Amino acid sequence: MIKLENVTFKYDKVVLDNINLDIDKFKVTFIIGANGSGKSTLANVISGLLFPNSGKIYLDDIELNKKTNNKIIRKKIGMVFQNPSNQILFSKVYDDIKFTLENMKISKDEIPNKIKSSLEKVSMLEYINANPYQLSGGQKQRVAIASQLSLNPDYLIFDEATSMLDINGKREIYNLLENLKKDMGIIFISNDMSELIYADNIVIIDNNKVYKYTLSEIIKEYNILNKHNLEIPFILKVANLLKIKDVSKLNENSILERIDEK
Ligand code: ADP
Repeated sequence: MIKLENVTFKYDKVVLDNINLDIDKFKVTFIIGANGSGKSTLANVISGLLFPNSGKIYLDDIELNKKTNNKIIRKKIGMVFQNPSNQILFSKVYDDIKFTLENMKISKDEIPNKIKSSLEKVSMLEYINANPYQLSGGQKQRVAIASQLSLNPDYLIFDEATSMLDINGKREIYNLLENLKKDMGIIFISNDMSELIYADNIVIIDNNKVYKYTLSEIIKEYNILNKHNLEIPFILKVANLLKIKDVSKLNENSILERIDEK
């Protein structure tokens, strides 16, 4: 679990004001909020790119501080960013992931297997020798995810990682979440409210504070989103009408199947 205790972060003005938050392993936690509310700041504080002005952060019970921060975090937390093309450095998928592993000083003889098994996890093994620049957006993003998975992270942060993908690319990423969370905690920063159906937990940043809900709570009481000045996506209204109780495998198809049953 990632635990934030009384964390305050400010640039010239306060962005995170004395927040307390638990982020579970083996769950998909969405972080949502208006533009400029502090989503990226929160992700950067969790991933050690920014250090809070006050408060404590624990990563699976290890307290992070300026000394331990980098080493521990880089091992435990992976990040996937918005633009998949910016995460590609080489003209072969294999070399791209190899570079990540070499950077983390993984021994040479372990590298080929780690590359293969991480590509397998994102169903991209057949592209191991492909040129990443010739892949679709969703495929490039899956290579970026494989690159992070090769380091066996305990948490993976998706920082608006679907926002530049077309609908097929987005679905490729959503389809991975259920399997990924068996091994790690997923933190999914999003501006697209229709993606909320893929969440287990939802953290809303509003006026420098955080509020945590389960997906079931949000479906049952979707006006919570209005209270935080967020739009209510159509798909959540549908899920509410269908009185869906088990939200653990919720996706577009399972919702459509439920509509067909009616
Ligand atoms: P979000 O990801 O929700 O859009 P951000 O975390 O990027 O929000 O930004 C939160 C607030 O902090 C915004 O008001 C933004 O203008 C401000 N901010 C972000 N980065 C910086 C920075 N490097 N220096 C000063 N202010 C910043």
